[in-house]
Amino acid sequence: MSDKDCLFCKIIAGEIPSEKVYEDDTTYAFKDINPKAKVHVLVVPRKHYANVAELAAADPQQLAHMAQVAQNIADQEFHGAFRLIFNTGIDAGQTVFHVHAHVLTGEKLDE
Ligand code: 5GP
Ligand code: ZN
Repeated sequence: MSDKDCLFCKIIAGEIPSEKVYEDDTTYAFKDINPKAKVHVLVVPRKHYANVAELAAADPQQLAHMAQVAQNIADQEFHGAFRLIFNTGIDAGQTVFHVHAHVLTGEKLDE
């Protein structure tokens, strides 16, 4: 899929509205439209990569930065505790092919 057709590229560009949680030069974070926890934020690189393995290979520093952004959100929302999920591939539940970290926090999570 090209960036032009990508839902999250459109959200990052502001062409589709989103509830921003955080942004910087490389990274954007916004509330998931269908939250699976009290706080459910998606953290995405501004640059388009299809999945976490592609991102890790191309730009490991960006991946590390996304983990730090997740930590900062959890520090504000729930004394630093959070779950970080990258669904990768259709059969793992990935529906948007612009890499995104699901950050689940804000409440005690089921094991
Ligand atoms: P995936 O299933 O690919 O791991 O995660 C995609 C996530 O994007 C889902 O949790 C879904 O609720 C969220 N999502 C899909 N469309 C939109 C949208 O238009 N806005 C926002 N904020 N989240 C979306
Ligand atoms: Zn994209």
